[in-house]
Amino acid sequence: MKSTSIPASVSVIGLGNMGVALADAFVKGGHPTTVWNRSADRAKGLVEKGAVLAGSVAEAITASSLVVVCLSTYKVMQELLEPLQSELSGRVIVNLTTGTPEDARKTAKWVSVHGGQYLDGAIMAVPQMIGLPETLIFYGGSKALFETYEPTLKLLGGNAAYLSEDHGVPLIYDLSLLTMMYGAWYGSLHAHALLSTANITATEFLPYATNWMNQLVAPLLSDPVAARARDEGNFKTDVSNMNTNKLGLEHIINASKEQGISVDWLLPVHELAVKKVAEGYGADSFERVIEAIRKPQVI
Ligand code: NDP
Repeated sequence: MKSTSIPASVSVIGLGNMGVALADAFVKGGHPTTVWNRSADRAKGLVEKGAVLAGSVAEAITASSLVVVCLSTYKVMQELLEPLQSELSGRVIVNLTTGTPEDARKTAKWVSVHGGQYLDGAIMAVPQMIGLPETLIFYGGSKALFETYEPTLKLLGGNAAYLSEDHGVPLIYDLSLLTMMYGAWYGSLHAHALLSTANITATEFLPYATNWMNQLVAPLLSDPVAARARDEGNFKTDVSNMNTNKLGLEHIINASKEQGISVDWLLPVHELAVKKVAEGYGADSFERVIEAIRKPQVI
């Protein structure tokens, strides 16, 4: 069903911080919008803007052919939808709940068995960014299904990126970006713990941290030549080899110990570098530790 001049009705299940923003975007986009939430009071503002509050999950699902789900976990979603299998027939479920790739794949199969169609999505934004043209949301599942609903889904985030027929792929992208964020974030907190041992404030350090991120870290992680080398398993380097990086990690660990701050996250990273040097890869790039991440049993 291509979008026509009369927008099709949409249902949104789950009105947490994110669900409210999603439903609001559909209402603003002119779609008749039915909403359901365990705590019905969360729907008040949306109902004032014209949304309809369903009395049950079943009512919300049968109100629209397109049903967007955004709950805290897949487990919650399963508990709510399990009893309603017949209602799923003929519906398109777009699930924007965060979970694991396997959660998404299992849910896709389950919806299909009950006669529904399924797209899984991953929102790379906070609720305040919902509805903006640049907001990125990943989607996976049938490409034809995505294209049918693309104009409607673009109301949620204009940068609606279709990735794969594999329903698990959007969450793989999502969680891969998140793991990059947590690695950098935790590293930054470690840096500030070390700085504070000499009474250096985060504000004082900021210009140098910013320069470091822009001049070294961002180029390192967004270099297409390095990405290709990683894809090819090419670990040659004439920049900074495993030996040098092993020593670098040792210096941070020793300095941190001297100052009495935690080295917990550095020890396993250092251990991988030590192992790769012992295996004879001291002249290779630090990138080679990916082998041990891929196969942790060899550590
Ligand atoms: P909230 O905690 O604000 O909302 C959680 C939602 O799940 C509410 O609708 C809540 O209902 C419902 N819920 C929880 N437990 C149950 C239950 N046992 N039965 C029925 N309903 C239940 O979370 P968000 O809206 O922020 O997040 C929702 C999803 O969106 C998550 O998977 C999150 O990872 C994802 N997301 C969120 C982002 C954000 O910045 N907020 C960013 C990207 C993705 P009730 O109101 O009744 O408690």
